[in-house]
Amino acid sequence: KDEGRGICRYYEPGMDSLVQGKQLLRADLRKALGRGELSLAFQPLMNFATGRVGAMEALLRWTHPQHGPISPDEFIPLAEETGVIVPLGAWVLHEACLAAATWPEEITVSVNLSPVQFRRHGLVEAVEASLKASGLEASRLQLEVTETVLMQNVADELEVLHALRRLGVRIAMDDFGTGYSSLSYLRTFPFDNIKIDRSFIADMSRNAQTNAIVRAVVELGQSLGVTTTAEGVENRQQMQELRAMGCHAGQGFLFSPPVPGSEVLALIERLGTEGCAAA
Ligand code: C2E
Ligand code: MG
Ligand code: MG
Ligand code: MG
Repeated sequence: KDEGRGICRYYEPGMDSLVQGKQLLRADLRKALGRGELSLAFQPLMNFATGRVGAMEALLRWTHPQHGPISPDEFIPLAEETGVIVPLGAWVLHEACLAAATWPEEITVSVNLSPVQFRRHGLVEAVEASLKASGLEASRLQLEVTETVLMQNVADELEVLHALRRLGVRIAMDDFGTGYSSLSYLRTFPFDNIKIDRSFIADMSRNAQTNAIVRAVVELGQSLGVTTTAEGVENRQQMQELRAMGCHAGQGFLFSPPVPGSEVLALIERLGTEGCAAA
């Protein structure tokens, strides 16, 4: 049986089978979209000023028919290697915009973009097409990019960022602080939102240095007129410190893990009533 062999090779120890397993997974990923194995989960970004959901981040999920759920940290790099991330990314954009069009108007949707999508032609067109097909206002779409987007060929990729901005979408810098030159990217492109990486949030209550860095990033955002969002908020103490610092929004297990699309409206309603206070 094909499937039996697949499992066997994937779990076999040793370098060769690991490589083979990856190759099988890569091939499976190419078929995953057509087979309906992909879905989106959504995680709320709480607006600290209103205490309500400000946005939902779309996070791609793959349930492999034999191996079960596979983490995006594992399969996104494979999709990038083969270029399959381009159609997958277009699908994510399309589905995320369709979903957001059914939510209350004040709630936006945030979509992760891969650097590979920037290097291929057609990203701006794909975003435009998703907005058009869903009828979603461009201002209700935020695109999250990591700094690796601007690592090569800066001029071309900057032009794409500006073209996206001209459509009226917001651009967020994801995982801020983890790369080599987060600061110089803030100088190169005027982002709308800075998402402070969760490694800083996890450490800020224990480590005075980290706390000072988070505070400084929030203040930097304020000086630049850029909103700041804290990733990986897991407890009340973190939320309270971040709010006191003037951070605009928070995302993390304290409020909710990512949930299936079918549960989004109920979640928005629950968090809208309870607000941040319930967390
Ligand atoms: P990300 O964009 O930084 O997304 C946030 C990740 O942190 C998500 O992991 C989320 O489940 C996790 N997270 C949220 N709150 C907490 C918390 O309180 N504690 C901890 N420990 N983790 C938390 P996920 O869904 O596994 O996604 C991992 C990464 O995969 C994403 O990081 C993003 O870089 C990438 N990814 C996911 N979906 C897509 C996609 O559609 N396209 C692209 N290009 N990348 C994607
Ligand atoms: Mg993200
Ligand atoms: Mg992130
Ligand atoms: Mg990340």
